[in-house]
Amino acid sequence: MLAMGAMKFLHSEAGKKIMPFITLLFCILLISFVIWIVLNYIEYQNKNQKKEENNEAQNSNGFNIGKCHNCGYENNSTNNFCTNCGAKLTKNELS
Ligand SMILES: [Zn+2]
Repeated sequence: MLAMGAMKFLHSEAGKKIMPFITLLFCILLISFVIWIVLNYIEYQNKNQKKEENNEAQNSNGFNIGKCHNCGYENNSTNNFCTNCGAKLTKNELS
């Protein structure tokens, strides 16, 4: 019944006068929704970037780093051999 009343109102003279405003309002809502999604997406990207920075910080603290004992080159922790000189990498062994 409420929807019917709204439809009736929108087709009345007053409704026709107010229709552009409703359309405008709807457009504004839609645009702000899109902006909200974009902002959330940017925040998500920033969070991911911070996570990566944290990982790098952890690496420079001496965790999971494959630093070559031969030449000192900082290899990826997943490498078994130095990318610079080819020496076998020894993982951080805890005693
Ligand atoms: Zn090396």
